[in-house]
Amino acid sequence: MEKILNYIDGILVEPLEKKYLDNINPSRGKVYSLIPDSNEKDVALAISAAAKAHPMWSQSSVEVRSSFLKKLSVAIENNLEQLALAETIDNGKPITTSRQVDIPRSKLNFEFFADCLLRFHGEVFETQNNASNKVSYSPLGVVACISPWNLPLYLFTWKIAPALAAGNTVVAKPSEVTPMTAYLLSKLCIEIGLPPGVLNIVHGTGSGVGTPLVTAREIKAVSFTGSTVTGRAIAQATAGSFKKLSLEMGGKNPNIIFSDCDFDKALETTVRSSFANQGQICLCGSRIFIEKSLYSKFRDALVEKTKCLRMGDPLEANTEQGALVSKAHMNKILSYLDLAKKDGGKILTGGSRANMTGDIKEGYFVLPTLIEGLNFDHELNQEEIFGPVATLIPFNDENELLDMANSTRFGLSASIWSQDLNKASRIANKLDSGIVWINTWMVRDLRTPFGGMKESGVGREGGFEALKFFSETKNICISTEIK
Ligand code: NAD
Repeated sequence: MEKILNYIDGILVEPLEKKYLDNINPSRGKVYSLIPDSNEKDVALAISAAAKAHPMWSQSSVEVRSSFLKKLSVAIENNLEQLALAETIDNGKPITTSRQVDIPRSKLNFEFFADCLLRFHGEVFETQNNASNKVSYSPLGVVACISPWNLPLYLFTWKIAPALAAGNTVVAKPSEVTPMTAYLLSKLCIEIGLPPGVLNIVHGTGSGVGTPLVTAREIKAVSFTGSTVTGRAIAQATAGSFKKLSLEMGGKNPNIIFSDCDFDKALETTVRSSFANQGQICLCGSRIFIEKSLYSKFRDALVEKTKCLRMGDPLEANTEQGALVSKAHMNKILSYLDLAKKDGGKILTGGSRANMTGDIKEGYFVLPTLIEGLNFDHELNQEEIFGPVATLIPFNDENELLDMANSTRFGLSASIWSQDLNKASRIANKLDSGIVWINTWMVRDLRTPFGGMKESGVGREGGFEALKFFSETKNICISTEIK
């Protein structure tokens, strides 16, 4: 069985204690490779390699760093099909999603920051009273990047690219649930001749690798994407050391449908925003608020469209709904469905594990599910489920809508559907969401600040925000007085 290896100091190595975890193909429910179960000793080796490489990398010119990022982006593009296949086998997502979203975006992450880096520079403020203030951005040192399983290579590279661009060396930890494309990336780093130690990838669990990594004295910043529970644990574990933290965490995003929306566009996008990647995107809208006068019409059309989603083998090009990432995650989602039924929620479609046959008989498939009849403050409308489950909630007016939409502890993203842009903008300004889309969903511009409010996030990623996070900012004030 294939063994995934750590990537430390430019080479692929076994974990020191040679312990491994099973890596499961979720659409088959079968172990298909082994993941290093690394520990603090492997982390220490990786940190020491990164520290050794830091003087060289941090002093290299922006052109040199940019050219390495470009080479990585080209290498990803040249291996798109292999990476897409690996992502789908590891994660259960439809191959078309891997081909059209995950891998192209991973390529773009390196390409974007290769370019962004060339336009990132210090500033000078000519100050009154004969002084000049020079603001400079310099690398922090060795930084940690930790990513989740839902968009494995996409989110892994979204952190690594700006961290490297800003002149830091990196110890990165992908999710132990979906490690394969991070492993393939380490092979690409070797192929393009990335200097040893600049990027190190250590595989393993949160307790085995994550905790020793974030708490290590040498780590100057931690960029984390994952659940709010883990984000809180990282914040607590690092509180005394004052290292920089960027935390991208959970969401419970509202999708707001006004009666004056473009019905067909709102409907079609709502199916996508509820069920893309089996609802396992932090930006998916899981609470669908519908203005009362449109409620029945929109609900009935949404149920019909949802029933038409093609669920099947993620390896087939026409599959729209693949497997959930793991058995544990599937069982968590099924427990929420049981709770909904127990508490009087009406299952409009879905509501159970899907009966699959053939090769995918043992896979972790849950039918796309729509539920109505649960109060806005019920657990299903307050907690992140992170699966193919959306609830429908009617609203009477803007005030009631805002009270319900803002009632959760999360604040990542929201979508608003209305042809009255004054109204939509008014609502957008009042929503507790870091990102609001009006009459669209998940249109991303990598230059914009990305992140959430409340328990969805601390800090922002994207563009110069990310480069600044991975930099130490210094202000030097010089007197320009001439005697
Ligand atoms: P998770 O928090 O379980 O794990 C994320 C990563 O953290 C993994 O690599 C894991 O091994 C590591 N980890 C676990 N415990 C750790 C610890 N104590 N110290 C350091 N690292 C530790 O999240 P998940 O289940 O992999 O991902 C799903 C979650 O990610 C959802 O809540 C989703 O909303 C969130 N997410 C958020 C965004 C965003 O941009 N806000 C994007 C994608 C996913």
